Amino acid sequence: MTSNYLGTTRGGEQWEPQFVTSINQDTCIGCGRCYKVCSRDVFDLIEREIDDEDEDFDDYDDDVVMVMALANEADCIGCGSCSKVCPKSCHGHTPAMQL
Ligand code: SF4
Ligand code: SF4
Repeated sequence: MTSNYLGTTRGGEQWEPQFVTSINQDTCIGCGRCYKVCSRDVFDLIEREIDDEDEDFDDYDDDVVMVMALANEADCIGCGSCSKVCPKSCHGHTPAMQL
């Protein structure tokens, strides 16, 4: 898929931004790597309530876990760094400005 929204490198090459549009909070482990690497403050850690029937948290004492969320989606510049550092491939991206 291509779009007509292109960026330009310092050397004059065109590149296509990949704007973050989603986070899979079912696979997110709340490690914070995407939060740290993002220079645009797009993310925020939030609490997610654990479903009693969720087998992934059988041994978990608390009833909430921390997961990442999109806080300022419109500030994303589409650099793609968040996906590069995420160990669980949680982020979804789109090249077009479909906010
Ligand atoms: S693509 Fe870049 S600017 Fe956008 S959320 Fe990810 S790290 Fe931040
Ligand atoms: S890097 Fe991935 S697993 Fe870690 S907090 Fe961000 S979305 Fe969640």
